[in-house]
Amino acid sequence: MRDKLVVGNWKMHGGLAQNDALLGELRAKWQAPKGRKLAVCVPFPYLWQAQAALSGSAIAWGAQNVSEHAPGAFTGEVAATMLAEFGCTYVIVGHSERRTLHKETDSAVASKAAAAMAAGLVPVVCIGETLAEREAGSTKAVVLRQLDAVLLRLGDRIGETVLAYEPVWAIGTGRNAAPEQAQEVHGLLRRRLGTVGSEVALLYGGSVKPSNAEGLFQMPDIDGGLIGGASLKADEFLAIASA
Ligand code: PEP
Repeated sequence: MRDKLVVGNWKMHGGLAQNDALLGELRAKWQAPKGRKLAVCVPFPYLWQAQAALSGSAIAWGAQNVSEHAPGAFTGEVAATMLAEFGCTYVIVGHSERRTLHKETDSAVASKAAAAMAAGLVPVVCIGETLAEREAGSTKAVVLRQLDAVLLRLGDRIGETVLAYEPVWAIGTGRNAAPEQAQEVHGLLRRRLGTVGSEVALLYGGSVKPSNAEGLFQMPDIDGGLIGGASLKADEFLAIASA
């Protein structure tokens, strides 16, 4: 059976004092029950702080973006090897905010996933449809297009990644996908992954809260969650991770 994995996405939130309190509380309270994994993905400047606060604990940490390039003349970018030096386990790639606001293409997301893996990191590859795409009936086509770009680049090594299905209309809106709605897409993605599909952690993301986590995580192809807003509150985040 696959472990349940819950990953926090702090987005562009945080501050030194606030992070100290949050990371300290997570470390003190997370009991690491068998079969459950927890991680936080923090803004780049706080990676050292996550490393200092969480080293030796059962909580992993990571970043929210990575360059597709090796170190070089790419002003403002951060290479995967740099994230590895800060002890990152995970890096989120292709979050909808990056696809939309920073115009990241399917192909760039696939390259970022490959760069992360080359540095020994686990990419958390986000895919998901917008509300307009869902209403137009193109959810399946959109998520499979996004997945196929990564599959094409990684082949069977996709088995070493984490995938996060995040319907864009559910992110930060308070409107989560119903468990059956999410399961339908997760099942589709799992089937598309073929023989390595059973190894891949498929997370759901989009307005997960303590009140809805259990229903979502009970679905056969939902292996945990990628959590935005609720990951900034230790009690809520831990309640989700224990659901
Ligand atoms: C996210 O940022 O990936 C996310 C799922 O956000 P929220 O949980 O706030 O909807």
